[in-house]
Amino acid sequence: MDCKLRAKNCGGCPLLGLDYAAQLKQKEEKVRALVGKYGPVHPIRGMEQPYHYRNKVISTFAVGWGGKLTSGIYAANSHKVLPVESCLLQDEVLDKTMQAVRAAANACRYQPYDEDKGTGLVRHCLLRRGVATGQVMVVLVTAQPVLPGAKNFVKALLAETAQRGVTVTTVVQNVNSRKTSVVLGEAEKVLYGKGFILDTLCGKTYAISPRSFYQINHAQTEVLYGLAVEAAKLTGKEVVLDAYCGIGTIGLTAADHAKQVVGVELNRDAVQDAIGNARHNGVKNARFFAADATRWIREATAAGEKADVIFMDPPREGSTPEFLASVARMAPKRVVYVSCNPVTLARDLATLTKLGYKAEGFTPVDMFPHTEHIEVVCALSKASARRVR
Ligand code: SAH
Repeated sequence: MDCKLRAKNCGGCPLLGLDYAAQLKQKEEKVRALVGKYGPVHPIRGMEQPYHYRNKVISTFAVGWGGKLTSGIYAANSHKVLPVESCLLQDEVLDKTMQAVRAAANACRYQPYDEDKGTGLVRHCLLRRGVATGQVMVVLVTAQPVLPGAKNFVKALLAETAQRGVTVTTVVQNVNSRKTSVVLGEAEKVLYGKGFILDTLCGKTYAISPRSFYQINHAQTEVLYGLAVEAAKLTGKEVVLDAYCGIGTIGLTAADHAKQVVGVELNRDAVQDAIGNARHNGVKNARFFAADATRWIREATAAGEKADVIFMDPPREGSTPEFLASVARMAPKRVVYVSCNPVTLARDLATLTKLGYKAEGFTPVDMFPHTEHIEVVCALSKASARRVR
């Protein structure tokens, strides 16, 4: 499989030239080389159809041929926008939605923002699709609060998407007037629909707002969470900590099999989403806290709180030595480490092993085919009765 954007220095799919089976083997070997000494690495879980898995698209507006507005992604290591009509990684419904957004923006004569000059109106478009529900969100990022003819834009967008067989659920304007490479600004205005979409994951329904963190590969996230919950060996009696919980998805997936779930997450918006998600799914045994995970667990341990199982899913930088020391003090029977970076996983495992935890095994999951990224689920159990104080 090849893509014409590769020749134009797209950079989105560094492994595309490699056969998918070979990509999987390469990733599995990389995990084995990094963590194999701690326990067995099971076969990587790949996708049956490793294309069009991204349920979220960010497209940047630019001036195209003949001065017309176009949009696409930045070429590798540059600020030049490559126009994108379709992408092998993106949900095909979102490709069509983006074509409709461009058509509607052109019809409204919206000018693309120029980051050097600071002129123009529309900066980016963020699209999300609930793969299980089919709901589609369009977020138009503008450089200023006023969107002239906003009603006409929505009307044109709905007509253009309908022509392409796509139903848009909600349209949001996000205002980002800062000189920054961060896509979304703080202020938001709902132009159409409710301002969020719903998606179903592992039997629970989640509300996704423009700024919520949500895993981008639906099918593989179900595989990942399935493995994580299985690794926890829950019986219904456990107190479970979901550290770095995002919008609460792992904890809420585990909640039916546990006595109590406590989620901790730094991002306040995500915690609000997690609380709402628990309520809407009728989950009564889950609580969520907005805090730095290290600080929270240190204080909880000092207060004598216990957990029987700890899920931890830190960002790429991994966890902290203080967090891991507090885990050992809390002394859960099992720890399930979900990692998006096997390098920091290996580093943290060296610490957890010294603290008396033993890795039972690792399962890599290919959440991001054709890219270098690897996700790994690692199950650990308390190896000895050694108490760490
Ligand atoms: N478990 C979630 C989110 C994983 S991504 C899921 O599967 O969707 C990692 C999460 O860690 C992000 O939501 C990020 O906001 C959060 N995070 C980053 N640093 C943190 C910290 N110091 N304390 C708590 N959460 C943190």
